Amino acid sequence: MRLKFLGAAKQVTGSMYLLTLDSGYKILVDCGMDYEMKKNPTEREYIFPFEPVDIDLVLLTHAHIDHSGNLPALVHLGFMGNILSTPATADLTSYLLFDSANIQFHEYRKGLSQSKKTKRHLVPKPLYIEKQVKECMDRFVTVPFDKSFVVNENIKITFVEAGHLLGAASILLEITEKGQTKTIGFSGDLGRSNSKLVRDGQLFKKVDYLICESTYGGRKHKVERSAEEEMLAYITQTCVNHRGRLVIPAFSVGRTQSVVFTINQLKKQGLIPSHLKVFVDSPLAVKTTGIYQRYSDILNEEAQNFMAKHGSLFEFEGAEYLDSMDEHDELLHYYDPCVIISAAGMVEGGRIQEHVSNNIENPFSTILIAGFCAEGTLGHRLLLGQSLIRIKNRDRRVFAKIAQTDVFSSHPDHDEVFNYISKTIEPNSNETVFLIHGELTQLTAMKNALHEAGINKVEIPDMMQEYII
Ligand SMILES: [Zn+2]
Repeated sequence: MRLKFLGAAKQVTGSMYLLTLDSGYKILVDCGMDYEMKKNPTEREYIFPFEPVDIDLVLLTHAHIDHSGNLPALVHLGFMGNILSTPATADLTSYLLFDSANIQFHEYRKGLSQSKKTKRHLVPKPLYIEKQVKECMDRFVTVPFDKSFVVNENIKITFVEAGHLLGAASILLEITEKGQTKTIGFSGDLGRSNSKLVRDGQLFKKVDYLICESTYGGRKHKVERSAEEEMLAYITQTCVNHRGRLVIPAFSVGRTQSVVFTINQLKKQGLIPSHLKVFVDSPLAVKTTGIYQRYSDILNEEAQNFMAKHGSLFEFEGAEYLDSMDEHDELLHYYDPCVIISAAGMVEGGRIQEHVSNNIENPFSTILIAGFCAEGTLGHRLLLGQSLIRIKNRDRRVFAKIAQTDVFSSHPDHDEVFNYISKTIEPNSNETVFLIHGELTQLTAMKNALHEAGINKVEIPDMMQEYII
């Protein structure tokens, strides 16, 4: 069979891999949006270097848009098969894709209104609209964790817990050709151990080929305190001692739920004032929080014990979930101490920009970035420590405290990925690792560490590179 790398090769986004069996059967693993390609809109037309109608089956590791975001386009352009995922992934993906269609539509309309008549044809069109998301969601077939799904006598698929996000899976394929069975493991995005809410990821028992993420190769998370200690310190300092506002830019799916649950834990222990308001200002976060609550049976022991004792993971005195724009506008005029959690996580677009803009000149406010910010994003510029910053076409002086925490990171760091690979792959064997989902520097750091440990068959594939396996 052949394995081709169609995305997230020497970069982070756009996960997409194609397995072509000797019989001609084609399996696509993930079908994500490529943000790096998005920087050059003229290339957006060319999103599938194959005919979608030729694909027989799609496997989806998890809901994040850089893994799922091109599925509606795949269906719209002719894919006729099924999309396999875990049940929670299917539900989260539905909300994320509808949200993505909505964002693309509004970006398109905005682009049209801001460009001259002669340049309007250059405004990137949405890759898909809501109707196509609906058609795509009809193709989902869900498979729970650890239950093998037999496609036919030659193909068996198992979703294994990855610990990255609710429903996120690593995928094991057992493929028999000419009487010989080969095992191929796609790590998907991995998680950290002892994460908030989600259970720890599981290892594959044994694989011949491991396609593994290495987002943080060569990097270590700076985590000295637990999530509770970290949140308690920021809330006490900002909201209690300074009577200010703590603004937390966070992704709506996963990160927001971890932060809110941590605050709920602090409230239930009486460590922060019970009347302190905690606003979640993101329609997508409001919807996906419901899914976390619904799938509480696959959350970790800490979350399940908390549920059994307190009934709800995300409801508590002072918690307010804001959906409409009217509620958002009202919050911009709320001046008491409070916590505001809003998207997007890198402060690029979304409601968070207004909260940052509203608080940046206030020395009593803290802006706490709860994750990684890519270069060029407003979040990244904030972290550079500039004293003047341009937000929404206005220069703002920075008086608020700008802080960052890694404690909620949903990706493992160098040591954790290294352990994952070295526990799966036998040193000095023929088992092969393909490193993906990272910049070249990160992938190279991981490759070097693996070589030192006697894991010699390590590949860093190029985009579009194909291997016979
Ligand atoms: Zn992810």
